[in-house]
Parts: sequence; structure tokens; C-alpha cells
Amino acid sequence: MYCCENCFKDDFLIEVVESYDEIGKCDYCNSEQVFIVDMNELSQYFGIVKKLYKPLMIGENITPDDNILHAGEKLFDLFNDSWEVFYGFDPDAEEELFYDLMNSLDSTEDYQQLYAKGQDDYYHRDSVDLWNSLSQKLTKQNRFFPGRQGQHGQEEIDNIIDITKSVFYQQEFKIKKGYKLLRARIGEFYNLDELSSPPENIISVGRANPVGIRMLYCVSNEEDKEIALETAIAEVRAPASSTVTVADIRTNKDLTFVNLSDFERIESVFELNQYADPIAELDRNQLTSHYVSSLSKPILEDTAQIEYISTQYLTALAEHLNFDGIMFRSSIAKGINFVIFDEQNCDFWKLNRYKIEGLKYSIRELKL
Ligand SMILES: [Zn+2]
Repeated sequence: MYCCENCFKDDFLIEVVESYDEIGKCDYCNSEQVFIVDMNELSQYFGIVKKLYKPLMIGENITPDDNILHAGEKLFDLFNDSWEVFYGFDPDAEEELFYDLMNSLDSTEDYQQLYAKGQDDYYHRDSVDLWNSLSQKLTKQNRFFPGRQGQHGQEEIDNIIDITKSVFYQQEFKIKKGYKLLRARIGEFYNLDELSSPPENIISVGRANPVGIRMLYCVSNEEDKEIALETAIAEVRAPASSTVTVADIRTNKDLTFVNLSDFERIESVFELNQYADPIAELDRNQLTSHYVSSLSKPILEDTAQIEYISTQYLTALAEHLNFDGIMFRSSIAKGINFVIFDEQNCDFWKLNRYKIEGLKYSIRELKL
């Protein structure tokens, strides 16, 4: 049986189909004059399905109290709803193709039974869930010692910290001495010193720092100069008609950052085939995605004191692990923010002053 490029939505598989360079008619979706391939050639890639999903077993991947019919799903639905591998214009044909592929891979398993996500056990909580619960504890319960000694909660905290560390090391970003940054301050200044971070006693809360802890907030000036300048000025929330002073800064040594401005998202389920533990890899990828989006999430000033606690915790962890700073995407402009833990790593070169002639508002109507 032949399947074709039109059967799939997944770019990885489409590329594999095209690589066979054979044109013809698809036995599944009936497309004609398309790239086709013998279905058996593709089954090897579907080994990942058996790693990510397991047949339902009470006491293994569902609790003894769960209703098996609610906890489990058909393997095709479970897989395709999460990953959109099949195109979706002929669901019956695609389902048939899916089970043909699975049977071609391994005909000893009964794929018609109910399946669930293949975590280790039914107590398993994914990392985003663990992080959210730690973040709640830090915010509402105990900011310094969030776990209770010797209790299950403490184990979960140790767990999420370990996974977060591995995210940080994976997202390591090294910059060379002389890396260019900008930093803005509202007002007209002529002394370089006046653009350094304020003294401890007047430091207010920020996305990366708690009250009283000095960190240097800058914007990368290595790519688009206009975007960098706009971002630096937007980050200080300069009002219309004000004057803003912007410092040109260069790092005076090589530095290592945790880069939470961007990450390599796992786009295709088939990329997971290369990992020994695809479930752990997927979990870590989702946690990285969560951190990247929470650091660039717009926060209102009224709730900032509370909302910034969890991102401050991440920054503190990066500092504890000897990183020199963290990077994240600006929530209000297109540039990338660099927070540098030790200002001594930067030299201030020169100051430029700008008049804010007007502000552009970007608006969206709220639907009820
Ligand atoms: Zn087809």
C-alpha cells in the first residue's frame, strides 16, 4: 500500500516521502500525481508512538480509582490530537494508514485497546505542573523555604529544581568580551555613572530582582540598532515629551547567560526518536517553553510585586549556579533584555540623549 505527501501534515514525514522521489496515486487518500512511498518504508519512524503512549494498566499509568473509559483514549486520537501528524482531510483513511503503519512496525501488539500517556506511574506530574505549584508556594506560602522537610512536597521541589538546572545548562548562551548593550534612563544625564543601576536603598522590584538587590538591566545592541534603541526606551516606560538618556555599554569579559529569550521547540514528534528518554526530553522542552513565555509576559504595575516573585526565583537560581545573567524577550518591544548580575562586568562608553516626540499605541478590542 502506498501513502503520499498529502496524507500528512508533519513536515518531517513529508520530507521523507518526497525523498523517495516517486510520483503516483495514493492508496489511502486517493490523491493523484503526488509524491508517494510504500507505507512500510515509514513505519520505522513510528517507534516513537510506543515510547510516548502505553496501553492502560490500572496501578501503572492510571490510579485504581480512575474509570478506565475516561482515562484512556484510542491510540490514533491520542497521538494525532497532540501532534497533528496526519493532514485531517480524510480522517478514516488516515486512521487506517496509522494502524497499518503501527502493525507494520510491530504486529504483536493490539493497538485497538485504550492507551494513555506513557509516564512512569500515575503519581507522575509534568514539570510545568510542578513549577506552577512551586511558584504558588513561593508567592503565597513560604518565600525562602517552600518545602516541608522530609515530606513528598520537598521531593517534588528538589525535582523541579533539578530539571530547571538542566534547562538552564541547555539554554546556556556565551557572549564575548566587547558585546554591545544599551541601557536607558528617563532624564537628561551627562555623567556615565548616572546610568548605572541605582543604589541598593532605592532599588525597586523588577522582573529579575527583588527589592534592594542590584542588577543591571540592558538591551542587546548587537542586531538591529533601531529595535535595540526602541526597546531600551520602551523598557523604562518613557512618557511622551520626556527626555531619555541612553548609555552605550560593552562587556569587559566573556560572560555566560541563561538564554530564556528563545528556544528550539520540538516541532515534530519524530524529532524525539533521537533521544533515549523522549518523555523526559519532551517534558523539558515544555518547561523551557513555559519559562520563555512567562519571562516575556506583560505584567501590570499593580500586581508586579507578586507576579515577579517566581521569575525572581529563576534569576536567583541562575545566579546561584554561577551564570553571569539571564536573557529574555521584552514584553513591550521587539528587542532582547539582558540582566547582568554584576555591573563590574560592563564598561559604560558614552551617553546619547533623546526626546520622546510621541508614543504609538497598539490596541485590541476586548471581546466579552
Ligand atoms: Zn495520501
